[in-house]
Amino acid sequence: MENRTEISSLGEFGLIEHLTRNFEIKNASTVVSVGDDAAVIDHFGKQTVITTDLLVEGIHFDLMYTPLKHLGYKTVVVNISDIYAMNAQPTQITISIAMSNRFSVESLDEFYEGIFAACEKYNVDLVGGDTSASQKGFVISCTAIGEVAPNKFVKRSTANEGDLICVSGDLGGAFLGLTLLEREKNIFLENPQVQPDLENEDYIVGKLLKPEARRDIIDFFETNGITPTAMMDVSDGISSEVLHLCKQSNLGCRIYEDKLPIADQTRQAAFKFGLDPTVCALNGGEDYELIFTIKQDDYEKIVLSEEISVIGYMAPMEGGTKFLSKGGNTFDITAQGWNAFK
Ligand code: ADP
Ligand code: MG
Repeated sequence: MENRTEISSLGEFGLIEHLTRNFEIKNASTVVSVGDDAAVIDHFGKQTVITTDLLVEGIHFDLMYTPLKHLGYKTVVVNISDIYAMNAQPTQITISIAMSNRFSVESLDEFYEGIFAACEKYNVDLVGGDTSASQKGFVISCTAIGEVAPNKFVKRSTANEGDLICVSGDLGGAFLGLTLLEREKNIFLENPQVQPDLENEDYIVGKLLKPEARRDIIDFFETNGITPTAMMDVSDGISSEVLHLCKQSNLGCRIYEDKLPIADQTRQAAFKFGLDPTVCALNGGEDYELIFTIKQDDYEKIVLSEEISVIGYMAPMEGGTKFLSKGGNTFDITAQGWNAFK
């Protein structure tokens, strides 16, 4: 690397000041930000939503194929995705990091460039964090704070029988992006001369490395007077998420294979790897789409959006959680989603 500044040359406070120098306050609710003992947030009679995530190198991300800028962006996106999943708007984040001396100030700059880009895009303020050394690897903790009008938040447990199950965007892309990058990584480790073959795979690679949170869907609800009856984001694959909605709402469901939204690029990539696109859509994680239920009366409003697909409906608990294949077969839905402890 041409330019490497050791973190030790700045010291902890110098580093914090350096990393946060470009962030300007965007929200009136941010009263005190980085630089004091704690941040102060005033939510003016709204309710506050808080969520936190821990990301560990080697468990949640692989720096062999994840650019630090993308990692920063994704760190923010996966957190605020949880805020949107409550039907709330994110307003502030905190970022805590621990890194070994393998990391230079320049590499942290790249990471914070990604954080900055996401904060700009989603209009959130970085209001604090913590900085530490680690013996090995990079550890990131992000907390996101959001606001919602009193009692307008949407939980997982409040779906009703007969409600339509909807999902935003398309599914399975991030999983195929991961499959591709893992394959290329293994080829590279065996033979470093081979250049990665990522041609025409921008879509699935982008889905994995640069996901977006679905603010547009929350805004669409607001504009069209829709309140989902239950909602969550899709981080572990929809079969796992559907089971959460059903279990917490004490209901069963029917999901239809022919209704699952799968992008052409995802389908093509699945065929290339000898995988079933449907299985990828059901069990692949990290899509960061929203899955939600609506009253049947809201169907007319939902079809206004090309970004929303109805994939099934909530049914009585006694009938179980069922998947209906294109061939007319019925299967029990099982969660095979992503699990850090497997
Ligand atoms: P304390 O000793 O009270 O924990 P710190 O020295 O850790 O305070 O932090 C000083 C200020 O910098 C606080 O506002 C804190 O939230 C912020 N901060 C620390 N680390 C980070 C970071 N990695 N990113 C953004 N803000 C940070
Ligand atoms: Mg501290």
